[in-house]
Amino acid sequence: MTLPSHDTVVTYPDGALDATTVVLHTAPAGESLLAIVTEQSSFHPVDAVWPDQPADAGVIETAHGVVPIVDAVLAATDGTELLLGGDIPVRKGTEGWAFLVAHLVAGDAAIAEGDEVTVRADAAARRALSIGHTACHAASLALNAALAGHWSKPAREDALGAPDFDGIAIASSRIAPDSSVDVYRLNKSLRRAGFDTAAVSADVLGELAASVTATITDWATAGTTVHIDRDGTGLTDRRYWVAELPGGTARIPCGGTHVGSLAELGAVRVEFEAGEDGGTPVLTMRTRVEPHR
Ligand SMILES: [Zn+2]
Repeated sequence: MTLPSHDTVVTYPDGALDATTVVLHTAPAGESLLAIVTEQSSFHPVDAVWPDQPADAGVIETAHGVVPIVDAVLAATDGTELLLGGDIPVRKGTEGWAFLVAHLVAGDAAIAEGDEVTVRADAAARRALSIGHTACHAASLALNAALAGHWSKPAREDALGAPDFDGIAIASSRIAPDSSVDVYRLNKSLRRAGFDTAAVSADVLGELAASVTATITDWATAGTTVHIDRDGTGLTDRRYWVAELPGGTARIPCGGTHVGSLAELGAVRVEFEAGEDGGTPVLTMRTRVEPHR
């Protein structure tokens, strides 16, 4: 039972769907599943700490047949045991730990250490999530731009130099097929940082949505290209979403998958909703796209 001593080599950031590789380790996961760790993976796993983009859908092909992957999660080991998702006790990238893609399959799957296998991510499911994730980043930047005039103090800047409302107020971000949902906390510390929450009061949200939608549409019409920059091929090597926007190059840390151009998004629609979470006012941004298929 050898445990890997280095990160899984991941190829999904470059858009790869298939990886022919070797099984390095298998371990029971819960009562009825088996975690499969491979040398390389083309399969995007969900991150327990910041679970914005869900796992890919797909299969592992072995010499004996095709095994459905029921989920894929971030795993880690310090050489003693394999820990999955929320059981990982250290931050990603901690020295002495290897960070891995764990492909979860049925517990009785005929896959063993040393097997040569091909990991295959479903192309249509990946594309729908990539579209949702690219739209999510574009919407965040467009929202920051729309709210830029509503800060009374200098604030941390986003990738385009606007006050980073998204980065400062974000509570959660969830990517779904062709869509995303971002939730922002409008709390005391945001107001203390100089943000005027009247800019996101219920009566102006229609106007705000029209402004954000128009900005994304302009960026898409301009043919803004998108690519991923990476410091290395390991799972925890830093990766960045880079968009060549009309207003400049935006570079945002991101571990997900994306389409190559905002022009691929088709019609984008952003909607806002005011709400509350345990007494704290929250703003919800829903981004939906009708992609060119
Ligand atoms: Zn991202």
